[in-house]
Amino acid sequence: MPQYKVAIVGAGPAGYFAAQALQNLQTDELKFSIDMIERLPTPWGLVRSGVAPDHPKIKTVAKVFEKIATSDGFSLYGNVELGTDISLDVLKAKYDAVVIATGSATGKKLGILGEELPGSISAAEFVPWYNGHPDFANHEPNLDCDTAVVIGAGNVAMDVARMLALEPSELDATDTATHALEALRNSKIRKVVISARRGPEHAAFTSPELRDLPKLEYTNVVMSASDVSAALERAGAEPEKEVRNNLEAMRLISELEQGKHARTMEFQFLCTPKEFRGNGKVEEVLFNTSAGEEKVIKCGLVITAIGYVAEPLAGISYEKGKVLNAEGRVGENLYVVGWAKRGPSGVIGTNKSDAADVMNLLVADMKEPKPSVDLISLITTNKVISQSHWESINAAEIAAGEPHGKPRIKAVSREELLRLGGL
Ligand SMILES: Cc1cc2nc3c(=O)[nH]c(=O)nc-3n(C[C@H](O)[C@H](O)[C@H](O)COP(=O)(O)OP(=O)(O)OC[C@H]3O[C@@H](n4cnc5c(N)ncnc54)[C@H](O)[C@@H]3O)c2cc1C
Repeated sequence: MPQYKVAIVGAGPAGYFAAQALQNLQTDELKFSIDMIERLPTPWGLVRSGVAPDHPKIKTVAKVFEKIATSDGFSLYGNVELGTDISLDVLKAKYDAVVIATGSATGKKLGILGEELPGSISAAEFVPWYNGHPDFANHEPNLDCDTAVVIGAGNVAMDVARMLALEPSELDATDTATHALEALRNSKIRKVVISARRGPEHAAFTSPELRDLPKLEYTNVVMSASDVSAALERAGAEPEKEVRNNLEAMRLISELEQGKHARTMEFQFLCTPKEFRGNGKVEEVLFNTSAGEEKVIKCGLVITAIGYVAEPLAGISYEKGKVLNAEGRVGENLYVVGWAKRGPSGVIGTNKSDAADVMNLLVADMKEPKPSVDLISLITTNKVISQSHWESINAAEIAAGEPHGKPRIKAVSREELLRLGGL
């Protein structure tokens, strides 16, 4: 019976769904042994380090990942980085197939003057900071100012703005990283402006997220009724369903009573950022409006949330921030899934059908199985997190959170994570 060995690089949703698709394709005649390689000591990708802490239901998908990880033939190799601890050439030589599922984690730049000033950061740094990603724990976003501007019109921009505009006690029962919770408690920010280049009808927010905003208990959510009615007019009589739902959700926001709370989250549309200005740090953002005028917002923090590109891996070609591929095929016995393949769009579930399609191609391409492989002997680090090490970390984090009514308290440094794993 052929037993194929597949290495999946990246333990985010796309990696797990690729593993699940292979598990589902198994028959009495066809078996897979799956080795999942992850650079962090923790799996789950953006479900751990991206999804907003105040949206815990979204993170329950991790239960599905754990079921996949505890099925026969699956092994986790955490704290192992492709390109550092093992090379792509070695993986390709030893495995029947290699699946790249490394996501896209670098923030896109606006490319405007002042973007490098202190006080200007990307959501690609701010989000992993509040979510306890080990590589971002030492960031110190400037929360010592009254106003923050978030540039972008998608759900990441909305997550970032919400995290800044929530009353910090609302985050007490979440898994927000302890250092971020502390900083947000001391934050002086009371107004957060989300700024979109185009009109409400073009925004990439999704309507469930918009519909949640009027439920915020301690934050005014402000959207101009005239912006929404002009967008409704521009969208015409029969806009697409998503646009219609979004505009309806926005209309409800624009009708909210204002000024009740100390904290405000305000939407601004049709403004293109031209320059971040200030003396050695961000003090204001200059915009061009669609009416051809200039507009200035004074602020001490500006966060860009305008998309992500993939960090290039040696031996792989990239185009527009994504791995160059044909329907997921990258080269001989090499495949790509998830955000590394498609770019940063779609929800967690989008990665499932996408990975299943690519795994069908992978199976169709299979030839004679290669001899068995002992991955540990090929890895240059001796601190490898197995599934059982990860289960110890997971249990310790959950236990630490329990007395505080939190789903978990995240360990943040690699050293602490390895210690909790028993290494
Ligand atoms: C801020 C934010 C909030 C989001 N919120 C939601 C939400 O509420 N609901 C929703 O449905 N979707 C949400 N998404 C989208 C969702 O997170 C993505 O669709 C999904 O995570 C993409 O999966 P992926 O596996 O391709 O990438 P990732 O989740 O990024 O996983 C990639 C993994 O690869 C690892 N890796 C990278 N390089 C290497 C290497 N060289 N060697 C080994 N491992 C490596 C990374 O550490 C990571 O664990 C959000 C995204 C972001 C950015």
